[in-house]
Amino acid sequence: MITRSALIWLSRQEGLKDFATRFRYFRKLTTRFVAGDTIDEVIPIIREINAENCTASFDHLNESVESDIEAGNEVAEYLSILTKIDEQGIRSNVSIKLTQFGLGIDPELAYKNARQVVEEAHRRGNFVRVDMEDSSVTQVTIDIFKRLRAEFGLDNVGIVLQSYLYRTLADAQELVKLPARIRICKGAYLEPPEVAFPAKKDVDANYIKVVQLLLASGVYHGIATHDPKMIDATIDFAMREGIGKETYEFQMLYGVRRDLQRQLSRDGFNMRVYVPYGKHWYPYFMRRLAERPGNIWFVLKNLGKG
Ligand SMILES: Cc1cc2nc3c(=O)[nH]c(=O)nc-3n(C[C@H](O)[C@H](O)[C@H](O)COP(=O)(O)OP(=O)(O)OC[C@H]3O[C@@H](n4cnc5c(N)ncnc54)[C@H](O)[C@@H]3O)c2cc1C
Repeated sequence: MITRSALIWLSRQEGLKDFATRFRYFRKLTTRFVAGDTIDEVIPIIREINAENCTASFDHLNESVESDIEAGNEVAEYLSILTKIDEQGIRSNVSIKLTQFGLGIDPELAYKNARQVVEEAHRRGNFVRVDMEDSSVTQVTIDIFKRLRAEFGLDNVGIVLQSYLYRTLADAQELVKLPARIRICKGAYLEPPEVAFPAKKDVDANYIKVVQLLLASGVYHGIATHDPKMIDATIDFAMREGIGKETYEFQMLYGVRRDLQRQLSRDGFNMRVYVPYGKHWYPYFMRRLAERPGNIWFVLKNLGKG
């Protein structure tokens, strides 16, 4: 049986990434999780999501870029997404990764690139979520986020924290004081026991602690999970504390638990769907398989259909 760690390891293999992304045949397998290749392909999908009373977050897939030019292209892509959101009147914000903007080349480059996108979002009254990547970049991601947050509004830029990291509760306590808008998720990377809880029950218990801290902070946060236990714990705590549904949102990934997305939205909860697109789908797609190795059967069935 192929394990989560093996799949995450495969997600980082550059040779496989190049091989898989070169052939359009493989791209067909990813359609459940990757909404399209271009912004224009994704817009009708976001319209459908909006029609079900859910909002969205555009994610142009790319990470760990290796040149200034590629990082600059990512900025251009995001500026164009923000323009299209306004032109098309769709309800969506954007999610970015700092390694997509050159963090691996130079943190200052990543900051400047991210700043251009946040400035444009500020001008347009939109919002940029800085995704969180593996633990080697947690601190620098928080540092860059804080600079952006100091310059732009609470409602223009937010960050992500991962409940599998030991440090996250302390980070959340510090960041809510700014205040900052936080998306809490469990975490999708392969982390050693020196930095992250190895057992799922501890990741879940920490998730609930952070959710309670966030909900009690009075700031609008994102509760990103497909786990019904985490969702119930969030709703129970909010009800007990008299915290209104309008003061937070649930977030889920495109292609995962669409039934639950619809149900929560019908029950009057704010629901945002994270919608990835683009040619660089390989690491994202492999992390989704890792979260639920049963998804491999789904992929293999489609492979058979060719
Ligand atoms: C909106 C959003 C943004 C995210 N941003 C980040 C980020 O910035 N950084 C980061 O490290 N991680 C991010 N993640 C991923 C996250 O960290 C988890 O890896 C992922 O959400 C799975 O955890 P879970 O809370 O759904 O719970 P789990 O315990 O993993 O899953 C609970 C249940 O959800 C369903 N499920 C979960 N994943 C899948 C899947 N891939 N396919 C099918 N069913 C599934 C299954 O029914 C499963 O039993 C994000 C997740 C979401 C929803």
